[in-house]
Amino acid sequence: MDPFHKMAPAPLLEPALSLSKEPERLGRGPGARRLLVIIAIVGALVSIACFLFVRHAEERRWQAEFERRAGVLATALQRDVEDQLHLLRSIGAFYFSSQEVDRQEFNGFTREAFGRLAGVSSLEWIPRVPAAWRDHHEKAARRSGLPTYQIQDREPRGGWVRAPQRSGYLPIYYAEPASEAGELGRDLATSAADQTAMSLAKVMPYGYASPPFPRLNGTNLAYRCRIFMAVFTNLSPHATVEERLRNCAGYAAVVLDLSRLVAGTIGQMKPDEARGFAWQLLDATGREGVPLRLHQSSTWDPARRSGEIGQTSVSFGVAGRTWVWNSRATAAYSPKPNQVRSWGVLACGGLITALLAAALASAQGRATQVERLVVERTSALDRSNQELRAEIRRREEVEQALNHERELVNALFDNIPDHIYFKDLKSRFLRINASMARRFKLDSPEAAVGRTDFEFFTPEHAQGAFADEQEILRTGDALIGREELETWPDGSTTWVSTTKQCLRDKAGNTLGTFGISRDITLRKHAERRLSIQYLVARVLAESVKFTEAAPQILQELGLYLGWSVGGWWHVDRAAGECRCVATWEAPGRSAPAFVEATRSLTLARGIGLPGRVLAQGEPVWIPDVGPAPNFPRAAVAARDGLRAAFGFPIRSGNGVVGVIEFFSREMEPPDEELLRLLSAVGSQIGQFLERLRMEEELAEKARELERSNRELEQFAYVASHDLQEPLRMISSYTQLLGRRYRDRLDEDGQEFIQFAVDGAGRMQALINDLLAYSRVGSRARTFGPVGCAEIVRRALKNLEVAVQESHARITCGPLPVVQGDPTQLTQLFQNLIGNAIKFRGDRPPVIQVQAVPAEEGPAGAWHFTVRDEGIGIEPQYFERIFVIFQRLHAREEYPGTGIGLAVCKKIVERHGGRIWVESEVGRGSTFHFTLLPGEAGVSN
Ligand code: ADP
Repeated sequence: MDPFHKMAPAPLLEPALSLSKEPERLGRGPGARRLLVIIAIVGALVSIACFLFVRHAEERRWQAEFERRAGVLATALQRDVEDQLHLLRSIGAFYFSSQEVDRQEFNGFTREAFGRLAGVSSLEWIPRVPAAWRDHHEKAARRSGLPTYQIQDREPRGGWVRAPQRSGYLPIYYAEPASEAGELGRDLATSAADQTAMSLAKVMPYGYASPPFPRLNGTNLAYRCRIFMAVFTNLSPHATVEERLRNCAGYAAVVLDLSRLVAGTIGQMKPDEARGFAWQLLDATGREGVPLRLHQSSTWDPARRSGEIGQTSVSFGVAGRTWVWNSRATAAYSPKPNQVRSWGVLACGGLITALLAAALASAQGRATQVERLVVERTSALDRSNQELRAEIRRREEVEQALNHERELVNALFDNIPDHIYFKDLKSRFLRINASMARRFKLDSPEAAVGRTDFEFFTPEHAQGAFADEQEILRTGDALIGREELETWPDGSTTWVSTTKQCLRDKAGNTLGTFGISRDITLRKHAERRLSIQYLVARVLAESVKFTEAAPQILQELGLYLGWSVGGWWHVDRAAGECRCVATWEAPGRSAPAFVEATRSLTLARGIGLPGRVLAQGEPVWIPDVGPAPNFPRAAVAARDGLRAAFGFPIRSGNGVVGVIEFFSREMEPPDEELLRLLSAVGSQIGQFLERLRMEEELAEKARELERSNRELEQFAYVASHDLQEPLRMISSYTQLLGRRYRDRLDEDGQEFIQFAVDGAGRMQALINDLLAYSRVGSRARTFGPVGCAEIVRRALKNLEVAVQESHARITCGPLPVVQGDPTQLTQLFQNLIGNAIKFRGDRPPVIQVQAVPAEEGPAGAWHFTVRDEGIGIEPQYFERIFVIFQRLHAREEYPGTGIGLAVCKKIVERHGGRIWVESEVGRGSTFHFTLLPGEAGVSN
């Protein structure tokens, strides 16, 4: 078991790895700086927030104070206005109590008020004057000291006109102070706004104001406001609205100068109370919906925005109108909002923040030290961690490599066809591979564990293997590549190459043996086949005669196979029996009785081992001849201790021509492969014998042919030579007869003698040619270098007459020196050129002789051609014309004997060459021949 197998990447290491990231957060890394920045920002923000809060609180407090003081002014103004209204009310009361108020009384009553009320511009009495009362009213006024009094209207240009007739009038009847006397008689009923205000004043117990109107005070424009108070007399009821509307006697009016009013109010204040204020008085009710600015202090800054601190508004009602008192703090307003506190707060905040940051920084300084330590430790841990990981990785790789190795070994073990095994000290199997288990016919390799060779092989084989292994264990020497024959219980055998050696543990203790054996049966058989074929082939190649080959083959095969006795049986096919022609005995293992019995034995087809092989045409194997049926030599074989035997046929094309048999002193199981092999060897030997037989026949025929040829040539020579003598006699005596008895012979006799002479001449020519032909072989001179040009010249010289007669034109190229007989070569050229002249046709012959180096044949050979433009030859005669006496024409047509070309052929072949013809009828013939080279050079 691999110790690393279970080692997963250790989770224990993970925290250590995460620690390695800590320094960034704790140390002087960006994390720490971030923290400092955050503290600074938060400190600043908190400080600013406190600062803003305190400042806001200060401002609120200050604003409240400002509002309070502005309220004091507003209240004072309100009170002053109230005082004016009070005056009006008292006028009302005065009238109500007096019934009738004359001008002096009115003056007296109001004069006192002017001194007290700074804002009053004028006080007026405006009676209701119905149209019917106008005259009375005006008369009464004139009477009372106003001689020009009339109810009048102001003209647009500024002058006055008497008021036109109206339903009623509201003239200013009294007006104080005296400076306002110009207004007297003015009918306010012409002003809609005044009329409305007066109407409303009738029902409003505290009076009602008409919209303020501007009036020049010298050069200053100032607003004035007329406030009406309805006046009732105690003579008429005025409790209900109807009564008041109906019974109103007139109106007391006060005209307020608003600038003076405000100035008066401010003037009443203590200097401190009004200092630093700017103000503005607005009539919010306005005229026709538009608010009116009634008064504004000179310090009022219109550019200031609303919403700032130091501004406030107070609204209050004045006789049915709404006035607004706007106040603003000017630069002179004191005190300012207290900012010391807020800035103090900000400073404190900054200080605290700085202190906090400093404390943190110093804490970080300490932390950094610790962190550095941590970092060092962490990185050390990290390093060792990495090393550990590397180690783990390395071990994983080793493990992978091991696994891979194991897979490879297993693959080898499971798939290799060789047998691999491990055995313990007692040669019991510890493990075998798959291939071996299959050979043992086991279900799995495990089934072999604990078992021994004795359960799988023959006892002899198992014993041998056991002894080998014990020897290996004893000596420690390995047994390498030993080739041995394994015999299995079913009798089958396999050749194996075995390697075995000691199995040791790491400490060197011997645990047993292990080995590998490879099946080399095929190789062995191939080797055996090759060896046997080689042996036999060698013997056959070296042997010329069967009598030499047979014992040699028996010996070589016997020695190679390791068998003791061999025999070669000849088959007499006609008799259908076989007879032993050769035997062999292994040196030192002779079997004389058996060999003698074999040599004297003739076995019929089917009898004994050779007879069976002959009958079956197949090899036969007898594991033990003793008990075998159909083995006549059993007794002698037993006497000489021979047991196993086999025989195989020697086969040629005609069938079994012989049988070879071998005998062993051991019992041997049939070796089919060997028999197959020997069967092939038998055919090989058969072919050899066949060839031997044919060669012998051929040699015999050649000898015979040579002899008869020689006899024939001898005969031809002798015959032609000996025939010439009597023929010459016949010829000369016939000619003599013809000459001497010319007169006594009649014409027929003359002609007959001429025939006889002619026939004798032809016979002479025939005999000459025949003689020449026979001489080519029999009277040959030894060969030497021959210049062909000279030879052709000689031939032409011999043909001189024919050349001249026929007007032949003969050209001749450069011709070489060849090896040969000059006389015969002259004959060759003479015959060929002579034929070319003879078979010329109608035109004078044109003949060409040439030689070029031959393209085939021996090196340096020459290819000659003799070309003519004669009658030509039909292709079917190309062979025939070279045969002796073969002619294509009648003697009358072309004279000749038909021997010339036969002589040529014989000469060329004697010179080691070849002759043939190419021709076309009517166009000419070319005779080709080859000759062997003489010496270098070309003769002309
Ligand atoms: P002969 O010339 O005596 O007849 P040869 O053996 O020389 O005998 O020739 C055999 C035959 O070959 C000739 O009869 C002739 O018909 C033929 N022959 C030989 N040479 C030529 C040639 N050059 N042209 C045509 N025919 C030829």
